[in-house]
Amino acid sequence: MPVPFLDFMKMNADVDTDIRQAFTQVWESKWYVLGRSVKDFEQTYAEYSQTAHCVGVSNGLEALHLSLRALEIGEGDSVIVPSNTYIATWLAISYVDAEIIPVEPREATGNLDPELIEAAIKPNTKAIMPVHLFGQACEMDAIMKIANAHGLKVIEDNAQAQGATYNGQPTGSFGHANGTSFYPGKNLGALGDAGAITLNDGDLQQELLSLRNYGSHKKYHNDRIGYNARLDELQAAFLHAKLPHLDHWSRERQTIAGRYDAAIDAIDGIERLQLAQGSTCVYHLYPIKTAARDELQQFLNAREIGTLIHYPIPPHLQKAYAHLGYERGAFPIAERWAFEELSLPIYPGLSEAQQDEVLNALQEFAQAGA
Ligand SMILES: *Cc1c(COP(=O)(O)O)cnc(C)c1O
Repeated sequence: MPVPFLDFMKMNADVDTDIRQAFTQVWESKWYVLGRSVKDFEQTYAEYSQTAHCVGVSNGLEALHLSLRALEIGEGDSVIVPSNTYIATWLAISYVDAEIIPVEPREATGNLDPELIEAAIKPNTKAIMPVHLFGQACEMDAIMKIANAHGLKVIEDNAQAQGATYNGQPTGSFGHANGTSFYPGKNLGALGDAGAITLNDGDLQQELLSLRNYGSHKKYHNDRIGYNARLDELQAAFLHAKLPHLDHWSRERQTIAGRYDAAIDAIDGIERLQLAQGSTCVYHLYPIKTAARDELQQFLNAREIGTLIHYPIPPHLQKAYAHLGYERGAFPIAERWAFEELSLPIYPGLSEAQQDEVLNALQEFAQAGA
């Protein structure tokens, strides 16, 4: 039985009627940009995130970019960011011409190591961008404490962790402005590109509403050089229809992760994610680590089990960042994640038989190698 890396079948079935209704409602409203659906979704997603405000934007990268801009971080400033993240987090910093300060993750969690942050702070450092990678909440108490002690802003990258918590508080509600992505494959996915910023500061919200819409609050009155980075009315309607399902989808991901964890703990040579104290994980991805990663991926591929690597090349070794002058070895923990990580299939609708197929294949691989 083939096990695709990702399959929307069950999630789509759960929302089929509601998605069609959402389309009809927008279609018939005859209002296709910044209408009722965007407002409704912003309000419900802010409530979900336990923040005062949500500003819908065009994608996750713009959410991070506009957050940095609204916080007036730019040329001459520096920003702390994990050395292992999807490149979008770094790109947002580049967009505002600020300097990137990569800080290594913990080996066990893959998330920013708070113990390394203080030593990386420079006189011009203005912000920390923690990334809740794989769906696991970063150690936000420690991060916020350091930020507050040094007067730094915090911009969470919550693209992978909608619904995760740290000490009971939702990710995307700790920082000064926090970006998330509703790219179709994310835990809460649109039917195209979409993103949002969650925050508590009302002045900052006003700034972001203007920045996303040509720098304008009032039509044809432009106060600043803004962008067209609006959340699409149709996507907002689709997201509003899907949001009530997010928590039960996350629970299903967690149940699958529990079965994977128990089986993988009994397999030599394959490591799984170790959650930090106080962090929950909504398993956007289920990463494992093994020195024989490429062989394992081929082995699973031959059995029609889909996997992906998150991410094969860390940002500091990408051609786009060659000008920063980092060599291999500059960030060894990020590099080990890049060379040893493999993501297994995990999504609502992945059957127990399919999970067993994955686990049996892992056991077979380990035994063949032993
Ligand atoms: C998906 C993702 C983004 C970017 O989101 P887009 O909507 O694709 O722009 C940023 N950061 C992380 C960690 C992501 O996984």
